[in-house]
Amino acid sequence: REEALAAFRCYWARSSVVPQATAIAPPGRRGTSLSLLPFSPYGRPPDDRSRGRQETKLEQDQLSNFITYSEPDLTRSATLSVISAPNEFDVMFILEVPRIELVEYSNSGAYYFVKFKRNPKENPLNRFVENELLSASKMLLKFREIIKEEIKNITDIKVVMERKKPRSPAVTLLIKEPEEISVDIILALELRSSWPLKTTEGLPIKDWLGGKVRTELRRKPFYLIPKNAKEGQSFQEETWRLSFSHIEKDILNNHGDSKKCCETDGMKCCRKDCLKLMKYLLEQLKKKFEKRKELSEFCSYHVKTAFFHLCVKYPKDSYWNPEDIHLCFDECVAFFLERLRKEELQHFFIPGVNLFSQEYIDTKSKIFLAKQIEYERNNQFPIFSEF
Ligand SMILES: [Zn+2]
Repeated sequence: REEALAAFRCYWARSSVVPQATAIAPPGRRGTSLSLLPFSPYGRPPDDRSRGRQETKLEQDQLSNFITYSEPDLTRSATLSVISAPNEFDVMFILEVPRIELVEYSNSGAYYFVKFKRNPKENPLNRFVENELLSASKMLLKFREIIKEEIKNITDIKVVMERKKPRSPAVTLLIKEPEEISVDIILALELRSSWPLKTTEGLPIKDWLGGKVRTELRRKPFYLIPKNAKEGQSFQEETWRLSFSHIEKDILNNHGDSKKCCETDGMKCCRKDCLKLMKYLLEQLKKKFEKRKELSEFCSYHVKTAFFHLCVKYPKDSYWNPEDIHLCFDECVAFFLERLRKEELQHFFIPGVNLFSQEYIDTKSKIFLAKQIEYERNNQFPIFSEF
């Protein structure tokens, strides 16, 4: 067992291709993100922003200490990115896998089997190959085991691993003290080849960010994460799913039709604030109805995808004037409602995939969410001051 572990680690170390951990400063705390708006739309008192920043810094330091501590070899290949909630972090552990071939799973566009083109004996991943396929479930299991071992060595911070959630590609760690932080660690295979055929018509940003930017983005590597595809009532355990989270991050950071939007010497827009509010709306609704099953399948990725489509629909920075944030946000809400009613939310990178199709989410759930959002919209979002 020790030997296997060492081999795995060694492979990690050799295959690390991202030279250093990139930490993106988390957005302010939830209250802060709302108070960043030019007006206080939903009666929230503005937070002390400098305090928010200090805490943010603290979280970041804790996290990077923790990662360095837990596995110095892995740190080099870790890319740290932060999602909407300030106490939730996504960390990708990137493993470069050369000479592989993707076999699309059941015309899904998003799910693939991974095959090695040549499979030399010394390939350290051989032990995860089953019937010629790189087994996603086996690798994820091993990944969990390694992390489990590693956190035993951490004595100065209280860290626990959450139980495995079915279908989740992430290993979730909870740092309990001094403040609860949840860290999703996601194993990702990096492919430095051209993107799969099904993405050819995706990323429709020509009129928004420009054709040149699109070409540059499509030259970047893409990723696969261990995620089971649905197979009737059960799941296909060996599939990997495409991930473009690095591109999404790029687009969000560089989101203007003018190059300088939201930079220190440029104009400010309200795109990011609108996205934050949309995510917050869904999070709050999920909290409110957590005991029911209707909202369980909805996630921030749906909100983000709809938001990207809206950015394409309204590509000009002038549309997203911070003074009009209430109008822009309302447009986001209206657009999301329309997607729910039409049961149509095209994947931003894989246009053949409809994230709101029956296959993923049943009609009843979509109607339920639409009804709740409509209620909030008609009553000036009472849910923003709940919980
Ligand atoms: Zn902007």
